[in-house]
Amino acid sequence: MWALSALRRGRTLVRTFTSAYPKPYTVPEGNWGTNRAARLELAASFRGLDKLGLNEGVCNHLSVMVPRADGQGETMLVGHYGLHWQEVTASNLLEVDWTGQTVQGEGKADVTAACIHLGIRHIRPDAKVIMHTHQPYATALACMKDPRLLMVHQNSLRFYQNVAYDTSYTGFALALEEGKRLGRVLGEKNILFMGNHGVVSVAKTISMAFDNLYYLERAAMMQVLAAGMEKEVALIPDSECGPMLDAISDMLQEYADAHFYSNYRILRKSQPEFEL
Ligand SMILES: [Zn+2]
Repeated sequence: MWALSALRRGRTLVRTFTSAYPKPYTVPEGNWGTNRAARLELAASFRGLDKLGLNEGVCNHLSVMVPRADGQGETMLVGHYGLHWQEVTASNLLEVDWTGQTVQGEGKADVTAACIHLGIRHIRPDAKVIMHTHQPYATALACMKDPRLLMVHQNSLRFYQNVAYDTSYTGFALALEEGKRLGRVLGEKNILFMGNHGVVSVAKTISMAFDNLYYLERAAMMQVLAAGMEKEVALIPDSECGPMLDAISDMLQEYADAHFYSNYRILRKSQPEFEL
C-alpha cells in the first residue's frame, strides 16, 4: 500500500514517494470548499479517535480554524457539547467566534473547549488545529510527578524535544486566561502534557494532529508497559534521537495523510453518515 521505497544509506534515509496520499473526498475551490473539507476531516477525526478509544465521555474537544463559507472572516470549527463523538457529522459541527459564541450551527461549544482552544490560539496563532483528549496512557504519564515521555520506542522519536509539560494543575479551564496560560507553557512545542488532566496536540493540518495523538498514545503505552516489567528500560541514546528524528521529519506529514485518510476510508464504509 505504501508508495514508498526507503533505503538506509549510513544515516541518511533516502525515499521516493510516487505521490502524496490523496484526500478521499473532493470539494470545490474557494471558501465554501475549504470550510467543507475541514468539516469532513474534523468529523472523521471525532469518529476515528472514538474508534481508537482516545476520547472520554462527551468531553474532550477538537477544533480547527476555518474561513466562513460565505467568506466573512474566520471562525473556529468545534464539536457541539453533549453529542457523543459517534454522533458528530460534518454538518452538526459548530462555528464559534473569538468570544466562544456560536455563529453557525445549533447549540453551544463546551466552555472549556472555548477557553482552552481560543486561549492557546491567542498565544500560538499558528495552531490551526488543536485536539485535546484524556487518552489513557498519555494522561497517565501526565499525572506523574515526573511526566516526561521517554525515548523508549521508535514511536517516541517524533516527540523528541517536542513536548511541553504543565505540572501545575489549576482546575477546570473556565476562563480564557487559563487557555492563554496553557499556550504560554506550550511555547513552540506541538504537544502539551496537562498535569492531572490530559494532553493537547497542535498542528497545521488535521491529519497531523490526529496522527500525533495516535502515536503519542502508542509511545506512552510502550513506556508504561516497559516500566511495569520491573526491568531496566533500554532508552534510545539521547545522541541518536536528534539524527533519527531528522531522518524522518520531512516524511511525517505524508505518513500522517496516509494514516488519517485510511481511517477516513474505513469510516466511510462503517459510518457513512459522518459526511452528512
Ligand atoms: Zn480536558
